[in-house]
Amino acid sequence: MASENYDLVITGGRIIDPALGFGSEGHIFVSDGKISKIDKDGPELQKEIAELPDTKKVDATGKLVVPGLVDIHVHLREPGNEYAETIESGCRAAAAGGFTSICCMPNTNPRIDNQETVQFVLDRARHADSRVYVVGSITKNGEGKQLAEIGELVKSGAVAITDDGYYVQNPEIMRRAMEYSIMFDIPVMEHAEDNYLCAGGVMNESYQSTRLGLKGAPAVAEEIAVERDISLARMTGARLHIQHVSAAGSVHAIRRAKEEGVKVTAEVTPHHLILTDEEIGKEFNTNLRVNPPLRTQVDRDAVIAGLVDGTIDCIACDHAPHLIEDKDSEFDKAPPGMIGMETSLALIKTYIIDKGYLGWADAIRKMTVNPARILNLPAGSLKQGEAADIAIIDPDMKWTVTVNDFQSLSQNSPYLGWDLVGRVTATIMGGRIVYQL
Ligand SMILES: [Zn+2]
Repeated sequence: MASENYDLVITGGRIIDPALGFGSEGHIFVSDGKISKIDKDGPELQKEIAELPDTKKVDATGKLVVPGLVDIHVHLREPGNEYAETIESGCRAAAAGGFTSICCMPNTNPRIDNQETVQFVLDRARHADSRVYVVGSITKNGEGKQLAEIGELVKSGAVAITDDGYYVQNPEIMRRAMEYSIMFDIPVMEHAEDNYLCAGGVMNESYQSTRLGLKGAPAVAEEIAVERDISLARMTGARLHIQHVSAAGSVHAIRRAKEEGVKVTAEVTPHHLILTDEEIGKEFNTNLRVNPPLRTQVDRDAVIAGLVDGTIDCIACDHAPHLIEDKDSEFDKAPPGMIGMETSLALIKTYIIDKGYLGWADAIRKMTVNPARILNLPAGSLKQGEAADIAIIDPDMKWTVTVNDFQSLSQNSPYLGWDLVGRVTATIMGGRIVYQL
């Protein structure tokens, strides 16, 4: 062993890799940016590691060592809105949250509905602190009227398509998008909210919206959209991925469709798992304005149950940076969205793992191998020979969220001041330490 050259050894942590079914103490050896081997702990090995001359060592004693996290729903604001986020800053935020593979949404300016813009993003991301995968637009300029050149998008590197931000209202267009998606073996990702039913809505339509005098977007807007797309996926055989599921009725529909064998997958955000519309009336914090909106406790219970029973496959942040100046307005004037990558793991630890809904292995599964599989990404596992993309987590670290914890150019987080438990302390991408607390 001593004769081999390693670039990096991560020693002494508890390694959790749900894809490999691995969950015990061990050391990870990295060479040429790849996982060279994983060895179980032992005093003899410790000694050998200590003697490795030119090898960088990261001591992970008492920590968890997991595959680099994967987030398939991120808004980088470049090109077009670089004041709110750039590809570089968004990737720094990813690294700070333990994410080594992220998928960016196409609602930039210009929109990612053509080969040149896919290429632009991939070029800009080449030296960033996270791997970036591009999700192309379903329709030209995201207007829902005319299909984008889906073949061209895939050829230039897009891994999926979505009109995220808006629902593809025209079912005929969606049908054809699904038919193309089969030809190119990619999933269609859908922001499922009927545009007519949620027109003008700024929060969930409920007792709370009536009480606060704000226009509501009803849960049924999402449920109808999900049901329609499931019907189209059943007919076409396409792979449908429902983004940011928020309503109980959507969870039930997806559960039934999966039982039936329809190829549907789903994601949920930390905020829909943790927050409800009751939070909005407390301070009218505009960082709580998101699409789809925060819903009721019944919906929250349903998305948690869906996450636990596998109806919802993965957790995705929907990291959506906006400048504080833009968010500093009346609730109904603020642009929708919140950032999320720096706080995601800690929120899941504090509110999902510590509340007994999921164990570590299942939570990590929903943040690594599951999202990677939905988009066929070469990520989410510590398999020998794969890229050394690794997150190290202190599971017990207590911390309070402040603006200093954000690498994002934006700070629109409703979690500022929250006390959380668990934190990513180091992130390694391709054998390179891209973040260290
Ligand atoms: Zn969306």
